[in-house]
Amino acid sequence: MTRLILLGPPGAGKGTQAKRLSASLGIPQLSTGDMLRAEVKASSALGLKVKAVMDAGKLVSDDILIDLIAHRIDQPDCRKGFILDGFPRSLPQAEALDRMLGERKAKIDRVIELKVDVEALVERIVGRFTCTKCGAGYHDKFHRPKKDGVCDQCGGTEFARRADDKEEKVRTRLDAYTAETAPLLPYYKGRGVLATVDGMASMDAVTRQMSQAIGTVGVA
Ligand code: AMP
Repeated sequence: MTRLILLGPPGAGKGTQAKRLSASLGIPQLSTGDMLRAEVKASSALGLKVKAVMDAGKLVSDDILIDLIAHRIDQPDCRKGFILDGFPRSLPQAEALDRMLGERKAKIDRVIELKVDVEALVERIVGRFTCTKCGAGYHDKFHRPKKDGVCDQCGGTEFARRADDKEEKVRTRLDAYTAETAPLLPYYKGRGVLATVDGMASMDAVTRQMSQAIGTVGVA
């Protein structure tokens, strides 16, 4: 059983690393950002409710997120564990998660902090884009497709950028991280489950450090 949380500011590489760990550990990546974006795209009642807040780069209310995750972790694919990417993002969310897991006789095994240089984040975020067909991630400067306009993974030719990846929205999201999410680091440190990895290292090196951090609790 492996229940993991990835913590770090927007652009730290949580999504990229969660996808890699998900493939190697065989447990799902639960990205609350992806779930909410899917609701917005489908114009569901929830999507309509959260769209403006997300577009502004602000945090959606705790009760919405807690409901979303409570429902998701009861799905059969989470039986062997899961990787939380983007949740919890505030102390009330972390406390609700502890309660939820406690009721299920479960707990978080490891929280991995991706530590990054905040100045580098804006550049990382504003340049990123993904293939709309397979979700592969690219970057204008650091990781262009081998052939311009064609996805390396699936050959798709359509790409998308997130509405909240514009510079002024990124600044708001970084402020939200500092104010609401950073206090989770001492919270999990106090529980003895926090591991910190250098998020500025190469993607492969980060993956290796994360696997080690998971291995040290004997859950990998
Ligand atoms: P992300 O893809 O993780 O950067 O999330 C994109 C946006 O979704 C955030 O800027 C928030 O508006 C919203 N969001 C995702 N997860 C949460 C959460 N746990 N709490 C509050 N808002 C969230």
